[in-house]
Amino acid sequence: MAARAVDLCVALLHRQPTIESVSRVLREHGETGDLGLGEADVAAMRAAAARLREVLAAPDTGRAAALLNRLLADTARAPRLTDHGGSTSWHVHVDDADDAPWAEWFLASSAMAFAVLLADHQRVPGGLCASASCRRPFLDLGGGSPRRFCSARCATRERVAAHRSRAASPDGSL
Ligand SMILES: [Zn+2]
Repeated sequence: MAARAVDLCVALLHRQPTIESVSRVLREHGETGDLGLGEADVAAMRAAAARLREVLAAPDTGRAAALLNRLLADTARAPRLTDHGGSTSWHVHVDDADDAPWAEWFLASSAMAFAVLLADHQRVPGGLCASASCRRPFLDLGGGSPRRFCSARCATRERVAAHRSRAASPDGSL
C-alpha cells in the first residue's frame, strides 16, 4: 500500500499528471474496470500528493508523526472491512465509503500506510531524492543509514557531478 502511495505521488507530482498517467499507476497496483477518474480527481489527488510529500520530507520521525496525525485526523474514518460487494477479497478501508472520491481514498489510505511503516521502522518512511534536478519521493524501509537518492541512477549522476566539480577546483578541495 505504501509502494502504491509513493508511485502515485511520483505520477501526480510530475509536471503534468494526466488521467492516463494516474490510471496507469492505479492499474499497476491492481485496480481494474472503469476507474471513472476525471480531471477534477487528478487535481485533487495532486493536492493530496503534495501533503504526502511533506511527510516524506520531514526532518525527523517526530515531525513526520505529527504530520501524519494531522492527515489522519483530517481524512481517515473508522477502519472498515469491504469486499466491494463481492468483487474483491476482503480488505481494510479508512476512507468514508466504497464510493468515496479518489483523492479522499488516496490521502486516507496513504496516510495510514505511512503511519504503519513509521511505527514498524521507527523512522520517516521515505524521503525526497537529494538530486536537485529530481526531488522524486521514495520509500525507505531499509535498516542502516537513511537513503539519499531515489535510484542508483540519481546517485551515480550526482557522484559523477561531485567528482567533476572537485576535479575542476584548482586545489582539489571543496
Ligand atoms: Zn532521483
